[in-house]
Amino acid sequence: MVNTEVLVVGGGPAGVISALTAAKNGHSVILVDSKSYTEIGNKTCGDAINLGPLKLLDKELGIQLPHGEEVADSVESLVFQTERVTFPLFGPGLVLNRHPYGQRLLKIAVESGVEVRADTKAIRAIIDETGVKGAIVQEKESNESYEIHAFITIDCSGRNYQIRKTIPPELFPNLEKKMEKRDVAASYREIIRLKEDHPYDNKVLLIYDSIIPEPGYFWIFSKGKKRLNIGIGWYLDMSVEKGMKELFREVLHKYYPQGTYEVEDKGGYTIPTRYPLMNAVAPGFIAAGDSAFHVNPFSAEGHGPALSAGYYAGKISSEALKVKDASEQQLWGYNMAVMKDFGLSHTKLQLFTEALRKVKTPGLEYLFKRNILTQDQFMTLHSGKGLGKGEILKIILKGFPRYDLLLNLYKIAKGVQKFDKLFDRYPSTPQEFPDWENEFLSIMNDIRNW
Ligand SMILES: Cc1cc2nc3c(=O)[nH]c(=O)nc-3n(C[C@H](O)[C@H](O)[C@H](O)COP(=O)(O)OP(=O)(O)OC[C@H]3O[C@@H](n4cnc5c(N)ncnc54)[C@H](O)[C@@H]3O)c2cc1C
Repeated sequence: MVNTEVLVVGGGPAGVISALTAAKNGHSVILVDSKSYTEIGNKTCGDAINLGPLKLLDKELGIQLPHGEEVADSVESLVFQTERVTFPLFGPGLVLNRHPYGQRLLKIAVESGVEVRADTKAIRAIIDETGVKGAIVQEKESNESYEIHAFITIDCSGRNYQIRKTIPPELFPNLEKKMEKRDVAASYREIIRLKEDHPYDNKVLLIYDSIIPEPGYFWIFSKGKKRLNIGIGWYLDMSVEKGMKELFREVLHKYYPQGTYEVEDKGGYTIPTRYPLMNAVAPGFIAAGDSAFHVNPFSAEGHGPALSAGYYAGKISSEALKVKDASEQQLWGYNMAVMKDFGLSHTKLQLFTEALRKVKTPGLEYLFKRNILTQDQFMTLHSGKGLGKGEILKIILKGFPRYDLLLNLYKIAKGVQKFDKLFDRYPSTPQEFPDWENEFLSIMNDIRNW
C-alpha cells in the first residue's frame, strides 16, 4: 500500500495539469497512467486548440504557450462549411503536435514534485461510506495489484472514466455514473502529406457533408506546409451503412484523390461529446476532462477544457488539503469554476447540436439560402447568446412554409434564455443540487427528446 495526498489517474492534459497544480502548491502527488512514460501525452487527435486555456496556464502556472516543434500551425478561424454555405465561426488558436507538448507538461509536473507511475493501470476506486479513498492499481509488467490511498483522487482517465464508473451511484447520488451511446462520438483521423501545398493555412474546417450523419462532420486542419490532419466522426447511436474508414476515404477523395497524398499516421478513438457533468465531485473525488464530459459538444474540442478543468481540480484539491476537508461541500467550488468557465457555454452548444440533429444540414442550408437566418444570427446562437423577441418574430415571418425548422430554432433560442437564468442560480451547496438538477434536466430533456 502507498499513501499520497493526491492521486491522479491519467496523464493526458487534464491529469498532468491537475497533478502539477497540486504539486506546485506543495502537496504530495502520484500520477498513474497505463501508458509508458514516453508515450504519455501522445493521442490520436485533431490537434486543434483555442488560445484561452493555454493563456490560463501561462497566467496561473507560468507554463509557456506551445512553441517550436509543439506547434504545427496557427489558426485564425474555425470555419463552418456545408456543400452550399461557408463562414468563419470563432477565433484564434493553434494546431499542435500533442506529443511533445504533453511531454513538456509531464516534465514540468515531475520537476514540480509529481511522482509518475507509468505502465500502471487504475482498476477501481477504493471507497468507504465517507468517500473515495484512492484506487487499486495494477502494474503492467509484473501484473501486480496494489492500493494507493489518497486524500483526494482525481479521475482524468478520459473516455474510460475508470474511477467514476466504479463509484456506486447509491453512495453518492449527486454524481452521474452513465455514459450513453448518444453522448459518445466515434472518430477516425489520418495525418497526410501532400505532393502540393494546400490552401488551408491558418484554418480549421468543420465540413458538414450530407453523407455523414449530422451532427457528425469531416474535418480538415492544417498541420503546416503540405501536411493535413483530416478526420471524420459521428455519434455512436447513429446507424451508418458504411464503415467509418470507408466513408472517410470517400469524403477525403472529394478533396484529395488517391495518389495525391501519403498517410503518415492514422488512428481512431471515441470522444465523450455531451454537455458537462453538472456535478463532478463526491467526497474525496473530482473528475476532470473527458471523464467529466468536458468536450465542447459542437466542435468536439476537449483538449483546452481538459487543461482548464485540470487546473481547477488541482487548485481546489490544494485548498481542501489545507483545511483537511475533502467533503463534497469543500470540493463544490470546482463545479462552480467549471460552470463559470465553459459549463454554461458547452450546455448551450449542446442545444445547437440537438438542433442540427433535427434540421439536418439541408435544413440549415435552407435557412441560410433564403436569408431566413443570417450568419450573424447563427453566430449569435452558436456563441450561446439568445436572439431578441423582435428578431425571432422576423425569422418566423420569413420562414413560411418551413415552420418545422423554425420551431427548432425557436426551441434553441428559448433554451439558451432558460439556461442563462438557471445557471445564474447554480447551487453553491450540494444540498441544493438535486432540485436544481431536476430543473436542468427538464429543460435539457425536453429539447433532446423532442
Ligand atoms: C480522433 C479525435 C480527434 C480529436 N480532435 C480534437 C481536436 O482537434 N481538438 C481538441 O481540443 N480535442 C480533440 N479531441 C478530444 C481530445 O483529444 C480530448 O478531449 C482530450 O485529450 C481530453 O483530455 P483528458 O486528459 O481528459 O483525456 P485523455 O487525453 O484521453 O487522457 C487520458 C489518459 O488516461 C490514461 N488512462 C486511461 N485509462 C486509464 C486507467 N484505467 N489507468 C491509468 N491511466 C488510464 C490514458 O492512457 C491517457 O493518458 C479529439 C479526440 C479524438 C479521439
